[in-house]
Amino acid sequence: MTGLPLYLFAFLSCALAQDALMQRPEVRKALDYLHAHDAEHLEKQIRIAEIPAPTFHEAERARFLEAEFRRVGLQNIEIDKQGNVLGWRPGKSPKAMVVAAHLDISFSPGVNTKVRKEAGRWFAPGIADDSRGLAALLAIAEALNHAGVATAHTLLFVANVGEEGLGDLNGIRYLFGQSPHKSRLIAFLSIDGTSPARIVNGGTSVKRYRIVIRGPGGHSYGNFGRPNAIHAAGRIVASLAAMDVPQRPKTTYSVGKIQGGTTVNAIAEECVMEVDLRSEDPGELDKLELRFLEAVRTGVEQENKLREVSGKHLTFETELVSHRPGGQTPASSALVKSAEWASRMSGHTPSLSFGSTDSNLPISLGIPAITLGGGGVGENAHSLNEWFEPREAWKGPQMVLLTILAYDAEAK
Ligand SMILES: [Zn+2]
Repeated sequence: MTGLPLYLFAFLSCALAQDALMQRPEVRKALDYLHAHDAEHLEKQIRIAEIPAPTFHEAERARFLEAEFRRVGLQNIEIDKQGNVLGWRPGKSPKAMVVAAHLDISFSPGVNTKVRKEAGRWFAPGIADDSRGLAALLAIAEALNHAGVATAHTLLFVANVGEEGLGDLNGIRYLFGQSPHKSRLIAFLSIDGTSPARIVNGGTSVKRYRIVIRGPGGHSYGNFGRPNAIHAAGRIVASLAAMDVPQRPKTTYSVGKIQGGTTVNAIAEECVMEVDLRSEDPGELDKLELRFLEAVRTGVEQENKLREVSGKHLTFETELVSHRPGGQTPASSALVKSAEWASRMSGHTPSLSFGSTDSNLPISLGIPAITLGGGGVGENAHSLNEWFEPREAWKGPQMVLLTILAYDAEAK
């Protein structure tokens, strides 16, 4: 290999290892299995989607996945303290790569999860997000076991709770923060979304605040001159809405909800607002957070100052109600490279992107993590019109399976 630049040598040896992977008969067998059993895996997806699992109410779906983990031959199956379903597939090393999909759906209890089929599309809340991921998770374990594919690392399959909304990643947070297995976990791969071309290697950092402003209230006419909680909120909203934030790294804000007052002819005693702040860069998010909190303080202060002679004043509280840490798994990392290769092998043109998924948590801890699609086509996630189309759906689990095996061969 003399005369060959080192990076080229590294690239070629990596490419050779991956090509060798495609030559292994048991790997071919696992891939063929996923294609041949596509219809069964799609049926399973429907079965899963019809078990309601709003965030904090995942137990029934968890029990179903527990039985499925047993059926596909995983070992030491348990439902942990947080409600995550865990199943192991031992490798030569006890160090484990986590492959996960989330149990919960972003809908309230009582939502109708019956799947309706219409013109080749399947409609149901959570049919794609993340019933597709859970079905792909099972399919992969089943295919690996059917074909007898051995891995260097142990694989830990997880159907986790708390990915959506105010779940605040509590399932994966527990797995990496408190579970007895945490020190064995070297990488994380979540199956969420559909497209096998989209590799989410960036975790958008999110902070959500609830701001409560309280004051004396009073008659709108008779007590005019007292500070008004809604007027203060108006000042805060106006200054947030005028803030300049970078386009790259993408940084955003939104006042998503505002409530307050009791009636039209009263000075508002209370105003509550909920605010969502995000950035691709955790440092930018911290900056935005400081500016926002300053805007809250200033807005209330200005209203108090203007109405000083009334002798009444407003008070406020700020509460961080949700914090999803973030960051990025470098594009040069073995995990991202493995996923790009696997995506190309299954006929796609991969692209790297940012998202807010379970991967945020391990990424924030410096553990390589990515989120991949489970196959098929999906749209309108988090809405009652969510749909899934089973177009070449097997390519999702094929792509994830190849990513797992390519990374398994590369990782130390
Ligand atoms: Zn999801």
